[in-house]
Amino acid sequence: MDAIDFSHHLSPISAARTPSPLKSLMKYMSMDGMISLAGGLPHPSLFPFVNIEAEVYSPGVYLPSNTSESDSELLRFNVHRNGRANGQVVDLATGLQYAPTAGFPWLLQYVRDFVRVVYQPAYKNFDVLMNDGSTDGWSKVVNLLCEPGDYILLEKYTFPSTQANWIPMGCKGVPLEMDAHGIRADVLERTLREWDNAHPGVKRPHILYVIPTGQNPTGCTMPVARKQEIYDICVKYDVIIVEDDPYYILQFDTYKLPSVANGHTAPPPPPSYDEAAFLDSLVKTFLSIDVQGRVIRLDTFSKTMAPGNRLGFFTCSPLFAERILRATETSTQAASGWSQSIVSELLHAWGPGLGGYLRWLSGLQSQYVIRRNWMCDAFAKEFDAVQEGDEVIVYGKGTRVKLLSFVPPQAGMFLWVKVYLSENKEYAGLFKSSSEDPETAFEQKLWQDIIDAKLLISPGRFYVAWEGEKKPRDAAERDIVHFRLAFSMTTKEKVDLAIQRLAGVLHHAWGLA
Ligand code: PLP
Repeated sequence: MDAIDFSHHLSPISAARTPSPLKSLMKYMSMDGMISLAGGLPHPSLFPFVNIEAEVYSPGVYLPSNTSESDSELLRFNVHRNGRANGQVVDLATGLQYAPTAGFPWLLQYVRDFVRVVYQPAYKNFDVLMNDGSTDGWSKVVNLLCEPGDYILLEKYTFPSTQANWIPMGCKGVPLEMDAHGIRADVLERTLREWDNAHPGVKRPHILYVIPTGQNPTGCTMPVARKQEIYDICVKYDVIIVEDDPYYILQFDTYKLPSVANGHTAPPPPPSYDEAAFLDSLVKTFLSIDVQGRVIRLDTFSKTMAPGNRLGFFTCSPLFAERILRATETSTQAASGWSQSIVSELLHAWGPGLGGYLRWLSGLQSQYVIRRNWMCDAFAKEFDAVQEGDEVIVYGKGTRVKLLSFVPPQAGMFLWVKVYLSENKEYAGLFKSSSEDPETAFEQKLWQDIIDAKLLISPGRFYVAWEGEKKPRDAAERDIVHFRLAFSMTTKEKVDLAIQRLAGVLHHAWGLA
């Protein structure tokens, strides 16, 4: 089945784009025997770059936090200016030249194969297109679909940069209540069903922005059954789903609280690898269930290789891909030639096919499990913690004062901590009596205390979906605040110290020290 026509979703700007005339000549330039005097291309002999040499980890390297070049077997490859010696897939003469807007052909084919094998899109004629990472990808999607003043459906807590893109356009978020599995389908359905009555004369939202795996900031992951429910509602109300999924590969098992009596967690087992089992273990994506071409998926190499690559890719219907291509021609032109060259050669060196990259991803995944466990274990050590269903409930050490809770994430990089304020005397007294928004005021104070203890975490208010104005808290949000703690960028020693500092601040602030 092919994608259906969603051209009625295009913004007027996107619909009006025409091809850049000079770009339309590029296909002739590569014809055999063609002498081109048409483009303003510098001759490659005038590039100062002759050859680059790279040393990289082999895909199966075990990556404990202290891996250094000396204790792992390195692979080496070169990218020369001229010719593709040793089976190279790119040379610098083309890699650093003005390039096809959609991406380098070899890389595009690789990414297409990756999409086919890992996501298995449910419609046939999906297209892929490189971009400069998901931030760029989302910005191009906003340009593709949004008009000033549009309402955008999104998770109640979301990634702030995505909102910062459309807030200046006068767009507004429609926050959707979440549970441990992400957006609640019943809430989405009610919101859309009641939209016209609740907002007479206001265009119904036609975009759902969702971070389905290891959601930023809440860490939750949406199972496929929930995705299917949400997808069906989006079909019913004709909503385009934008699946921004940078943490997709970082999926892990369920966390089990360590025995506090033992005082330590067993070291992780050495990673074993089975490609089919690895692929099988990954939750199905919105793209996997998309039979209509209604999903625009954003993938990025930021979390799977390095953010500085500024490289990612769209998967979407040919119609959306073509419109994004037009917008790219006159903005970023193409993803960086350096990034595409080096990443192409790396993926090639890790071959054959997708094998090496998948192996690498599985190794990476096992490192994030370890980091997730370090952080959760540290809470169990510094506080009294019990596991109740999905949640870990955390009490002051040696007390029954409930300080906080979290759902140990099964993907991603973040622990979303909910702090209960009602038993804090300063909050219950001074803050509640003197502030219109005591939770936010107290969050700020607590955050500052935590900074003073030399620990930087991010305050929950940064992630609140923007509705165009500050709305009063609903009952479920009273007397609680959130903080987001990233377990990605740290060592075990640092994470232990961090949670020790946090524990010091909280015990002191609750008078439990
Ligand atoms: N989208 C989400 C949900 C993120 O959490 C992040 C990174 O923090 C990004 C996008 C940014 O990705 P990129 O580096 O590819 O622009």
